[in-house]
Amino acid sequence: MKSRATLVAVLCVALCGSYVYAQFGDKPSVLSTIKIKDDLFVIYNDLVPGNTTVLVTNQGLILVDNKFEIDFDNLMAQVRKISNQPVRYVINTHYHGDHSGGNAKMQAQNVQVVASERARRRMVETNQPGAPNVTLENSVRLHLGGKRVEVFHFGRAHTDGDVVAYFPDQRVVAMGDMFTVGSGLPPLVDYPGGGSTREWPRSIEGALALDFDTAIPGHGKPATKADLAKYRDSLSALGRRVIDMQSKKATRADIEKELRSRYGFEDFHIQLALDGMMAELR
Ligand SMILES: [Zn+2]
Repeated sequence: MKSRATLVAVLCVALCGSYVYAQFGDKPSVLSTIKIKDDLFVIYNDLVPGNTTVLVTNQGLILVDNKFEIDFDNLMAQVRKISNQPVRYVINTHYHGDHSGGNAKMQAQNVQVVASERARRRMVETNQPGAPNVTLENSVRLHLGGKRVEVFHFGRAHTDGDVVAYFPDQRVVAMGDMFTVGSGLPPLVDYPGGGSTREWPRSIEGALALDFDTAIPGHGKPATKADLAKYRDSLSALGRRVIDMQSKKATRADIEKELRSRYGFEDFHIQLALDGMMAELR
């Protein structure tokens, strides 16, 4: 049996080194800021690393995700264009380094980092610096400057520790990698990280029960609630397709071909997901 450490090392190389294309995380990304509401912004870049969401209050800022460590200075420069308030909290949607890489630098500035207990455990296991200070099992609320953010873990999806950040007054959810938008970004089921093709649509269901208009994906441009519902449907269809193919005795190669041609999987997605998916969906 391949050891957990080996799998984790493979995953880390994949995520830190060659996610879809090479060189991500080696040099800072070019960032831009998208205004969603007067007090809510997305610090955006192409493809990788992940989006950062910023809520502004008169007692400080709450961020969702903080990109790779190498992006820290550029990220803070964008934050400073939005507000001079200090960052008070960062929520990590999951353990991947392109969403949590700035943790240690944030903590050095007295920022509280919030994540699911499972995500924290995986960060510790993979020796990532900046393990979260505050963890949750199912939900937690952050209250700051008269505003609030509700953080929910709805179950397994992209990993086993994904959380969604809900901004009820702004009618916005930040989904992390439970939702990605754009070509070149098929759903990535991180089986070594506890992801699940079967449970993912049900976990999105939890988010869809919330009252909101805008869904901020982990990667890609902000989208609508209808787009998120469509994404859930396509994930369900993908799962049904793999079950159907396996019931008809399709080979691993057949399923790989289908995932590549119909769902846009690339080497990286196949490597992380194919065997786990076949074992889960039979
Ligand atoms: Zn991820």
